[in-house]
Order: sequence, then structure tokens, then C-alpha cells
Amino acid sequence: MATDGFGRRIDYLRISVTDRCNLRCIYCMPPQGVAWKPHEELLTYEEIERFAAIAASQGISKIRLTGGEPLVRRGLVGHVRRLLAVTGIEAIALTTNGTLLARYAQDLAEAGLKRVNISLDTLDPDTFARITRGGDLADVLAGLDAAFEAGMDPVKINVVVVRRLNQDLLGFARMTFERPVHVRFIEYMPVGGADDGTVCGGAEAEGWTADDEVSSDEILARLAAEGAAAGLGELVPVARESAPGGWGPARYYRFEGAYGTLGVISPLSHHFCGECNRLRLTADGRLRTCLFSDDELDARAVLRGGTDDDVRGLIERALAAKPESHNMRIGTARRMSQIGG
Ligand code: SAM
Ligand code: SF4
Repeated sequence: MATDGFGRRIDYLRISVTDRCNLRCIYCMPPQGVAWKPHEELLTYEEIERFAAIAASQGISKIRLTGGEPLVRRGLVGHVRRLLAVTGIEAIALTTNGTLLARYAQDLAEAGLKRVNISLDTLDPDTFARITRGGDLADVLAGLDAAFEAGMDPVKINVVVVRRLNQDLLGFARMTFERPVHVRFIEYMPVGGADDGTVCGGAEAEGWTADDEVSSDEILARLAAEGAAAGLGELVPVARESAPGGWGPARYYRFEGAYGTLGVISPLSHHFCGECNRLRLTADGRLRTCLFSDDELDARAVLRGGTDDDVRGLIERALAAKPESHNMRIGTARRMSQIGG
């Protein structure tokens, strides 16, 4: 079992398989995108699998694949199959923007992937195109259908809530009456842009400001009030034991009679650093001990020039260096697409 310097059990590794993406979400990337890392700087699947096997021997049992957009990297299905064959790895999850999921859901499910998180911030096509700078909502909805058809479970939707976007949260609540989907509302986080002072999306008009943050408490109050007014009934907390299987800090609620749940993730308003269970491996092979900390360890150099014991030592150093909390830092050297969320 791996524990860090503060006694937290670390059993979850988020792996970014690429920094490339087919969308340009305003809270994640500047309009012109981010310069992609050259291929030779990205970890190969073989290197990632070796890292995962060593991490598993130290107590990592859960892996989430993320990006950039993980489904734009060729060969992901085989990678999932091989990771699931690693001794000690119990489950793999995928975080995706969903645009390519209709194409890959069946193959991913056959490879053993069950858990999928689809990022979708609105059900309005025009707002979707604005948020993603040109994406087509229909692609994501087709991906969502495909995930259910392939038998994935749990299927979750991640909604980043940004005040100026004035998103229709009730539309997501209604979805939970149609199918067992678990919608999680995430507080907008000030990540990225430390290099040029343009936090998050980069463009002056779309970048992060504190006014755009909507706290989970406000989100829940809105859901409860709008749901009651629309005749959906009362929004009640879901006990931890009955919450959709999760590895993170979401708190779940449900309208009575709904198949799915509504969750909130509050990195800013309710610090959950005390329960943090994760490490992050970036696509270019840096081991990150905290989403908000730019102190990274160079796993790629060790994977390319070192023994398994050297990699083990690196993971131990990362565990020892994991900060106690993120201290609400604003801006990081990497943007969210380069970390993996
Ligand atoms: N491309 C994939 C996707 O969108 O799901 C995976 C990578 S994306 C960086 C991972 C998650 O980070 C997404 O759910 C996205 O909405 C979230 N994210 C990106 N920028 C964010 C921000 N500034 N605040 C909160 N969440 C953010
Ligand atoms: Fe791409 Fe995901 Fe970032 Fe959107 S949030 S730009 S889909 S990496």
C-alpha cells in the first residue's frame, strides 16, 4: 500500500496519453490551441505500461486515462487491454470529450473498459459550439448513447459550471430521469496560463475571473429550487454506500424516482485535499503530485535511462513530495489539457 507524507493512501493514477485535442474549450485552452509536444517527448504506450506495472507493485490499483483527448491517440483500445492485464490494476476509467466515443465505445468495452466520464457542459448546440470553439453537440450525444449501448457502467457526465455561460442545469437533472447517468457539476478552476497571465482559456474575454466561479453550494441550491419548481420533487443526498462507484471526492444527490444522480465536485469551495488519493502522469512523462503544483518529477528520463528500481524510487519521491493542500493557487505553468484534469 502506498501512503504519502501525510498518511493519505494513494491508489489512483491519472495518465494523460496525449496533449492533443480536437476541441478548444474556452476554460482549458487558448483559441489558437497549445503547441503540441513533439512525438518523441511523449511517452510510448510501452513506457506507460511499464510505469503502470511498477506503480501497481507499489499500491496503485486504479487508472484513469485522460488527455488532451485520449481518443485522438491511435491504438488506445489495445493500451486499455494491456493495462487491464497488469497485475494489481483492478479498473481503468476514461475521461473523454465524447466526440469520438461512438466510434470506439464497443471496442473499448470489449477490451474491458467499463467506466467512462464524458465532458459535456451544456445541452444547447449553440452554447456547446461556443464553449468548445466549434464542436458539434450531436457527436457527444451519439458518444453518450454508444457508451450505454456498449454496457458501460457507470456512465458519468462532467459539467464545468461557469457563470457567464448561464448553463441550463435543469436540463441535466431531467436526463437523470431518462437513464442511469451520473452528472457531476465541477467548479471552474483557475488552472493554466501562469506563463502569460491568461488563466484558463487565454482570450481576455473568456479567461477565468473570480466572478465566473459558481460554488457547489450555489449549484445545489439552484438544482433544488429549479427542480422543485419544475415538478421533479425533492433533491436528496445519496449515502456514500449507494453513490455511483467513484474514486474521487464527488458528493451525490438524487431527485426521487430518477435513475441517475447529480453530484458536485468542489475543489475550491470545499477543499478535499485531505482525502486526495492520486498521482498524475502527464503525456510527456512528468509525474505531478498535485493538479495545482508545478513541482514535477521527470519520469520519462527515468523510464528511458533507469531500472525498475529507479522508477520505484521516483514514485516514492513523488509520494514524499505530495503537498498537503493546493492553497488555492491561481494559474499553473501547464494548461488543463497538458495535465489531464
Ligand atoms: N479531453 C477530455 C475531456 O474533455 O474530458 C479529457 C481531458 S480534460 C482536460 C479533463 C477534464 O478537465 C474535463 O472534464 C474538463 O471539463 C475539465 N477541465 C478543463 N479545464 C477546466 C477548468 N479550468 N476547470 C475545471 N475543469 C476543467
Ligand atoms: Fe480538449 Fe478536454 Fe480541454 Fe476541452 S477540456 S479542450 S475537450 S482537453
